[in-house]
Amino acid sequence: KQQEFSYLYDIHEKANDFYHYYLMSTNNGEEAYDYLIQRQLTKEVLEVFQFGLAPNNSQLLVQYLQKAGFTSEQLVDSGIFYMADSGELIDRFRNRIIIPLRNSRGDVVAFSGRVFQENSDKSAKYLNSPETNIFKKGKLIYNLDNARLPIRNQNKVLIAEGYMDVISLYQAGYENVVASMGTSLSEDHLKQLSKMTNTLIFAFDGDDAGQKATSRAFQTAQGITNAEIKAIQIPNKLDPDEWIKEHGQESFQQLINQSISQFEFNREFFKKDYNLNDEYELAQYIEKVIELISQIKSPIEQQLRINDLVNEYHLSETIITEQVNRARDIRP
Ligand code: ATP
Ligand code: MN
Ligand code: MN
Ligand code: MN
Repeated sequence: KQQEFSYLYDIHEKANDFYHYYLMSTNNGEEAYDYLIQRQLTKEVLEVFQFGLAPNNSQLLVQYLQKAGFTSEQLVDSGIFYMADSGELIDRFRNRIIIPLRNSRGDVVAFSGRVFQENSDKSAKYLNSPETNIFKKGKLIYNLDNARLPIRNQNKVLIAEGYMDVISLYQAGYENVVASMGTSLSEDHLKQLSKMTNTLIFAFDGDDAGQKATSRAFQTAQGITNAEIKAIQIPNKLDPDEWIKEHGQESFQQLINQSISQFEFNREFFKKDYNLNDEYELAQYIEKVIELISQIKSPIEQQLRINDLVNEYHLSETIITEQVNRARDIRP
């Protein structure tokens, strides 16, 4: 299978070299390079992650790859190009900063392109390769090739949403960090990571989308993994990259140290949905919390959380315990 698609790996390797050279070593790369330096990325990190730039002129890379012997059909198969109605091959990433996506062996199998000019906000911020015979979104974990050993050694993985978060965390000294590529974290992602470590830490963005993603990721992990899972809460809707830039590495480490369990996360996450000054809605919220408590695996932790609830809302422990047991028994 590897053999059958070897031309796809070859095309990606050559395209990656081309994009990287175009960013790092040509005059046309200067504006994009300056954008990255403005974002406080170092030259060394641009090399480690092999950043690139797709020229505005699609023909340069097409001609380079055709000269190397690839057919139009092969180039379309790679997902990097599409055929225009005119029959011309177009680089779908033109005029974008290129972030190569590698599989766990370190082969480039896809690209993500980011806009970098002020006036380009009409188009999506990131554009990814479509799925191909060598690239499946639900399977690929960004940066796993670099992070595998540090994850094993530290027995811990930080899981972010974005490439820039991974790279910023790497610059801040965290090497055990990967990203799910913005798409929700899949069962397969969680299974792969659980084989390497039994501590997963979600470090998603602090905005609403990131909070929803965290809630969903906890849900997906149910029954998939026995790893301990925690989530970092980043204030002011910031993402890890932005937080580190504003507050520094030590402050981010404090957020890691304060990371919370699924129960703690959800108790706060669902609070927003209820008006707790209204007796009726308060009762509904407490029932939601009881359901969450019933999902806690450790009986000791379950008892502790029952105590919290009893004390916080002055309830009868007997009744709450009864309700928790009932919620557990009626779950399918
Ligand atoms: P930056 O810091 O460069 O603005 P980000 O990682 O903070 O990037 P987010 O908007 O937080 O960007 O999105 C998180 C991740 O979701 C991105 O890294 C990318 O993988 C994915 N993503 C975001 N927008 C898109 C899009 N339009 N198409 C595909 N993937 C996207
Ligand atoms: Mn280089
Ligand atoms: Mn960001
Ligand atoms: Mn973000």
